[in-house]
Amino acid sequence: MTDANDTLPSHRLEVPIDEAVGWRRTLHQNPELSFREYQTSDMIEDLLGQWDIPTYRLTPTSVIGVIEGTADDPKTGRVIGYRADIDALPIQEETGLEYASRNPGVMHACGHDMHTAMLLGTAKVLSGMRDKLHGKVLCIFQHAEEMLPGGARELVEKGAADDLDEVYAFHVAPHPVGHVGICRGRVSTMSGIVSISIRGRGGHSSNPQLSIDPVLIASEATIMLNTIVSRDLDPKHMNIVNVGSLHAGEAGNVIPDTANLEVSIRSVDETDWEAVCQRIEAIVNGVCQAHGAQATFDWQIPYPMVVNADLAVNRAWHAATKAVGDAKVFAADPWAPSDDFSYFSREVPGCYMFLGTGGPEVGNPYFLHNSRFKVVERAMISGMRTEIQIALDALDPSAPTPPEMPETKKTMPSAGSVAQRPRNPGLGTPQSRAGEVRTTAQDQSTSAPVSGEPTPPASGEDA
Ligand SMILES: [Zn+2]
Ligand SMILES: [Zn+2]
Repeated sequence: MTDANDTLPSHRLEVPIDEAVGWRRTLHQNPELSFREYQTSDMIEDLLGQWDIPTYRLTPTSVIGVIEGTADDPKTGRVIGYRADIDALPIQEETGLEYASRNPGVMHACGHDMHTAMLLGTAKVLSGMRDKLHGKVLCIFQHAEEMLPGGARELVEKGAADDLDEVYAFHVAPHPVGHVGICRGRVSTMSGIVSISIRGRGGHSSNPQLSIDPVLIASEATIMLNTIVSRDLDPKHMNIVNVGSLHAGEAGNVIPDTANLEVSIRSVDETDWEAVCQRIEAIVNGVCQAHGAQATFDWQIPYPMVVNADLAVNRAWHAATKAVGDAKVFAADPWAPSDDFSYFSREVPGCYMFLGTGGPEVGNPYFLHNSRFKVVERAMISGMRTEIQIALDALDPSAPTPPEMPETKKTMPSAGSVAQRPRNPGLGTPQSRAGEVRTTAQDQSTSAPVSGEPTPPASGEDA
């Protein structure tokens, strides 16, 4: 196994990358869904125990490890926390990796296996550096990030953030491998889910006049819900309405009684959020009324936006620069996903950071939550080094207050473009189309990849 420790300057912190890769692969092979992370939390607790790190559980499937510094009375020092989310997604893995998921229909497709393995590595190293720590480090292995109402809210309600002075988390992203992205201020969207049940009247498909067809009504509502962002909201604002689940019926010759939709909403503006929620109810109720059906709505409590605090941003920036080198730290744009880390970072200054785990340039064209999503594991070196350095800085009372993160630092393109779709060469920029004969969609189909594989974008191309 390649150990990229070898390729980095010798003064940088040594981290257990080979072990972290092993833990990550074990986790990847044995993914568990939100609120059911039993084996995962047992594995975490076992490992922390091996390094004499005391643990406790606030919920059945989350683990908090406490590393007490011995440089001082740990009760007088500061307390910093790291959050690693540990749950997987209901996705059938199609990566073809030798260590692919052994649990049918469950996959670590959001990189939480990486977050967990990194924090284990960080905990192992810090457990051997207790004499340098004035204070405590809490390693919070959080359950159920992927499913509302989320695990963070529950942990914070049970006191997980009570002693913290600062809190940090990484999320993998398709940036260059081992690069650390830090964003000042808002870094994610707020997001929520509404489950909608449309009740019509079931019956025999041969006599539709006796029925009220919820399949048709749900389909009509789905199309109309997609007009909210394009027709009801300011196009300069970021909002997303996605019907991710539509279930109705069991047989082709039966009109069912009900159809169920699950809709995900994301926004960065509370006024827009209210407008989206009102429009969803108005559209679904309107379509139902036109057909004589009825709808019920089950709104789940949304995840707030993650807003990074200046103190934590500055600390993370300077720690990352020390830990991985200036060239690998960049000012990141906010991204469209959300994360319940916001429940922690609402309580104490926090910084949610991105760890580049590679994109199309290393043969990984698929974004998070895709059944073929892959990462470059050696990126964990940068993640562990940054986490360790943050702890060393934050728990050193003689360390100066970190200076401001520079404003003029280079940025990376925001994650997740649509460039992986096959492109029609006739659809260039307005300038490039001038005087050209446009290629027809039919012509284009002859050059499309036969396997359905996406075409990675050419260098510099942006969709
Ligand atoms: Zn996710
Ligand atoms: Zn995630």
